[in-house]
Amino acid sequence: MSTLVTGGTGLVGSHFNKDFIKVSSKDYDLISNSQTTDLFEKVKPDRVIHTAARVGGLGSNMTYKADYFYENISINTNVIEQSRKNNVKRLACFLTTCIFPSVVKYPIRPEYLHDGPPHESNFGYAYAKRMSEVQIRTINEQYSKEYFCVIPTNIYGPGDNFSLQHGHVIPMLVHKMYLSKKHNTDFEVWGTGKPLREFIFAKDVAVLTERLLDEYKGTAPVILSTSEEISIKEVVDILVDVFKFEGKVVWNTDKPDGQYKKPTDNSKVKELFPDFKFTDLRKGLEETVEWFNKNYANART
Ligand code: GDP
Repeated sequence: MSTLVTGGTGLVGSHFNKDFIKVSSKDYDLISNSQTTDLFEKVKPDRVIHTAARVGGLGSNMTYKADYFYENISINTNVIEQSRKNNVKRLACFLTTCIFPSVVKYPIRPEYLHDGPPHESNFGYAYAKRMSEVQIRTINEQYSKEYFCVIPTNIYGPGDNFSLQHGHVIPMLVHKMYLSKKHNTDFEVWGTGKPLREFIFAKDVAVLTERLLDEYKGTAPVILSTSEEISIKEVVDILVDVFKFEGKVVWNTDKPDGQYKKPTDNSKVKELFPDFKFTDLRKGLEETVEWFNKNYANART
């Protein structure tokens, strides 16, 4: 049985089983219908894990909203339709909690996805991604398929994008602390440290998605989350310990805190895999920091 992973060199894609066929944008441009068609005709996959997307931080999403919309809706439309046409048996398509309504009931549940407009800062990206859930639902109903979406929370881990401009909080803090330690400078954190996030280790996301492909019988989207809220301050404390950082931590409250919290309901994944042990944040951060130290020259920065 062959399994195709799109976005195969990305933060999640790179952690899947080595026997899976992993493709990246360097191999095939999935924005192009003809290249996507070529890919599926060549690989003829039985199963598809679709992680490929154009992703970026807040600033990038606001500046390039039309590109985020066009590229993501094209990639999704092509990959999902080619899966259907090529009779792919199981498709797991990646969404994220940041495409949910900006005003939403907590804890976030999958069925709230279309209950209101997304945050204005990323509406191009969010509406495009939401449409993949719609496309999958229509195919399941019309063609009796069993495709489904997975919705992870804040993913981190080895192979992340450690950019100091476009990164998410963990990779940015890792990169900044690495530099502060090296140059003996203050370590700057944005905001107050009070906001709460649910972090999930990239390897856990890969393992859970593989298990869903093998074992999940349903088609409803599944939130991949520990449902454990951690403050940014707690993340900083762990990093100080892991790096053995002895310099000064500076809280820059001129920088935004962003949304205070966005808790999710992980009851589905817990019900499906009651035995699954999520990687403890400290252990995941240790692995991430170790990877970054070793791979600094080649990391996406
Ligand atoms: P979000 O979860 O979509 O809001 O995005 P992030 O992963 O970028 O997390 C943002 C949270 O981390 C906010 O509360 C920020 O104030 C806080 N934060 C602290 N320092 C940093 C930093 O250096 N970079 C980023 N991106 N966020 C930071």
